[in-house]
Amino acid sequence: MLLAGGSVLDVVTGDVTRADVLLSGERIAAVGPALDGPERVDCSGGLLVPGFVDCHVHVAFQEYGPRSARTLAAVAALRTLLNLGVTTVRDAWGADAGLRMALARGWIEGPQLLISLRQLSTTGGIGDHWDPAHGPVERFDDPSMPSPVFDGPSGARAAVRRMVRADADWIKVAVSGSLSEGARAHDVQMTDGELAALVDEAGRQGGRRVMAHAHGARAAEAAASAGVRSVEHGTFLDASAVAVMAAQGAWYVPTLSVTHGSDAAGAHVRSVRLALEAGIPIAAGADAVSGYEKVLDEVAHLSAAGLGPVGALRAATSEAARLLGLDDRGAIVPGSRADLVLLHGSGLDVTDLAGRVRAVWQGGRRVR
Ligand SMILES: [Zn+2]
Repeated sequence: MLLAGGSVLDVVTGDVTRADVLLSGERIAAVGPALDGPERVDCSGGLLVPGFVDCHVHVAFQEYGPRSARTLAAVAALRTLLNLGVTTVRDAWGADAGLRMALARGWIEGPQLLISLRQLSTTGGIGDHWDPAHGPVERFDDPSMPSPVFDGPSGARAAVRRMVRADADWIKVAVSGSLSEGARAHDVQMTDGELAALVDEAGRQGGRRVMAHAHGARAAEAAASAGVRSVEHGTFLDASAVAVMAAQGAWYVPTLSVTHGSDAAGAHVRSVRLALEAGIPIAAGADAVSGYEKVLDEVAHLSAAGLGPVGALRAATSEAARLLGLDDRGAIVPGSRADLVLLHGSGLDVTDLAGRVRAVWQGGRRVR
C-alpha cells in the first residue's frame, strides 16, 4: 500500500516534509518523494504522524453491573481509541489478559494492549476496595484478576508474583491516595522497603517494570528512589522529587486530563514545568476511565503546559513508545510498524487533534 501525496512529520526534529510512505505487510518499507507502489491512497492535503500511544488508560473500568458488562464496555472503549488513531495503550489497571488475547486474535479491534491487571496497594490504599460501612466491596473479584493488596516487603514480592502469574505486562502500584481522597493524595502509603521489593521482584520476573501512581511529591520521590520506571500523575511535584526522578531516570506520565479545569490544575502544570526544566522524559496518558473520545485532549494539555505541539506529539508517539520499551513504533521510518494516522491539514496544531483524524492504519491495515 502506498500512502501518497501527503506530508510526513518527523516527531524527533519536528520537521514536516512532503513524502510518500510505502507499507509492506505490517511494516513501513520506505519513506520518500515520488515512491511507487500498489494500492495508492491519496493523502494530499494531509499530515501523516505515527500512531498514538497512550501510556495510562483504563479500558475496563466499568465497576458496576455484572462482570460481562465490564468486558463489553471495554470492547467499545478499545474501538473508540483505535478510531482516534491510538494504536497502542498501556492499561493502568482494570483490563485482564482475556482482552489482550481477544485483540491479538482479531476477535475485537483496538489498540495493542499492555496490561497491569490490578493496582497494587497496601491495606487501606486505593487498591483495597473496602469501606467502613460495608467492609470489603470487592467489585473486581474475578479469577483473572488477582488480589492487589499486600503489606511488607515479602507481601510486595508475593503481590508482584500474583500479577505475573495472571500475565501482567506491567506492575502498577498506588503509592499515594487519590485526589478524591483529599489530603491522602499526599500520603506515602508504603515503605521504602516495600517499594524496593516491588521493583526488584518485577525486574526478576522477566524484566518487568513498575508504574507508580503518585500525586504527592513525597510519594513520587519515594517511588523514583526505589527505581520505578514511570511516575503517574505527579500532580504536586517539587524540586526535591524532580531531582530524584531525574537522577534515577524515571519517566513522568502527567495525565493532565485528570486535573484539567480543577483546583489542582495550576499545581499540576507547575509540576510539568519543573520536570521539563530537569530534563525528565515525559510520555502521554490521559487516564481515561470513560469519555475515551477525549483522550487526545491530553496532547493539547501537554502542549499548553510547556511541551509545545511537537513536544506533545512526541510524548504521545516516540517518547511513549520508548517508555513502554517498544522500539518498533513511534516513528515513520523504514522497518517501523505501520501504525499511522493521517491528519487533515499539514500544520502542527494539536488543539483539536481528534477533529483532525482522517484515516488510521494499524500494523499496515486501514482501520478507519
Ligand atoms: Zn489511572
